[in-house]
Amino acid sequence: MSQIIQEPTFRESVDLMVDRAIAAIDLDPGIAIAVKSCNAVLQVQFPVKIRGKIEVFTGWRAVHSTHRLPSKGGIRYAPYADQDEVEALAALMTYKCAIVDVPFGGSKGALVIDPSLYERDELEKITRRFTLELVRKGFLSPSTNVPAPDIGTGQREMAWIADTYKHLYPEDINYVACVTGKPVQHGGIAGRIEATGRGVQYALQEFFRHANDVKNANMSGSLDGKKIIIQGLGNVGYHAAKFLSEENGALITAVIERDGALINDEGINIENLHQHICEHGTIKNFPSAILEEDGKAVLEKDCDILIPAALESQITLENAERISAKLIIEAANGPITYGADEILNQKGTIIIPDAYANAGGVTVSYFEWIRNISHMRFGRMSRRHSEEHGSHISDVLETMTGEKISEQSRSKLTRGANELDLVRSGLDDTMRNAYQKIRETMLSMDNVHDLRTATYVASIEKISRSYIDIGVY
Ligand code: GLU
Repeated sequence: MSQIIQEPTFRESVDLMVDRAIAAIDLDPGIAIAVKSCNAVLQVQFPVKIRGKIEVFTGWRAVHSTHRLPSKGGIRYAPYADQDEVEALAALMTYKCAIVDVPFGGSKGALVIDPSLYERDELEKITRRFTLELVRKGFLSPSTNVPAPDIGTGQREMAWIADTYKHLYPEDINYVACVTGKPVQHGGIAGRIEATGRGVQYALQEFFRHANDVKNANMSGSLDGKKIIIQGLGNVGYHAAKFLSEENGALITAVIERDGALINDEGINIENLHQHICEHGTIKNFPSAILEEDGKAVLEKDCDILIPAALESQITLENAERISAKLIIEAANGPITYGADEILNQKGTIIIPDAYANAGGVTVSYFEWIRNISHMRFGRMSRRHSEEHGSHISDVLETMTGEKISEQSRSKLTRGANELDLVRSGLDDTMRNAYQKIRETMLSMDNVHDLRTATYVASIEKISRSYIDIGVY
């Protein structure tokens, strides 16, 4: 394999992947530029008094697209954050929303901060101040730009953002929809925390429903017994690994974390490991697995499925050739660089790309936003009605057949769906439909041979339609 001299930046890497898709379709060059370009980027620098001293924080909010509003995407708190990364992630949000039919534009934000170095109260002060900057500059509102959690942020930060916005605009009846990923008792939705991991599980389940796709990845059968290596046991990685091992029978044979990797070919108990990390802050000294100090090398270890669920640029020109997984599903955003993607495609490694694979989070954010602007939880009007309906059907069946329905069947028939049931059903449906669209796109085009390009083709076709139909204003 000839060596490409330099890795592009993350944003260039996303653009190069998009260019591959644009080249495969007959897209007007002007529209192509409109689709690809980042609409606006706000950089803020603001002072906050911490422990008697003034500290100046730097943050960004990039709006990649506004063809649908609000623009949507998380806010990341990370010491390494920079503008190039924020723009890349905002672009990914555009394609992500389009492929899963979430009617939003793409956006992303970041703050340069290591949250582990600050107390809770300090983080609250910083988050509220960052929110003020975003709101005042027109980069945060329920109708135009709606953040969500990402690396280093969670429900707590989202609750602070919502509360700050509410104090600024108490007359905005939809104030609670200004951010998603909130705690359930503050306008959040059941199932949002686990949503991205759940989406990865649903994506894999759908992949394994297509025997030909499984065969192309040199595998057979179902997820049961498949050997999985996961990188990153944060929110996304933890939930994906937990569901795949506990519900699908997959074996998590290695977990890669910051401080090394744990290996056990018989499968690692994810819940036990999660408890261990919560208690000790490290994967070290976890019983029943071997510790490998060089965590990154474990990406190359033999397995069926590799799930990078940590940071971008983990599989690069340097290690791509040595990756031995048959299937890679990108739970993280941008874990494979452009050059590495080309190498893996040539090797025949199947990649389920980030823009689709981790779209479960924004999908459930969409449900949360709808719940917020409708001011009612899903299922509130229909649950008891469905239960009565099921009970009536059971009674009629018993009368007609003269036989008693088992308690188990009766309770299934008479159970009305709660919000979590509906969220899971909506997410599963979304992930199934999107995968089918992607594979149909790939199979219908002679010049598209990988799922990533097919994902971009399908989403760019949707985005460009709105430019073509509505025109450029
Ligand atoms: N930060 C998540 C992502 O990268 C979620 C975005 C959202 O829910 O708006 O997809």
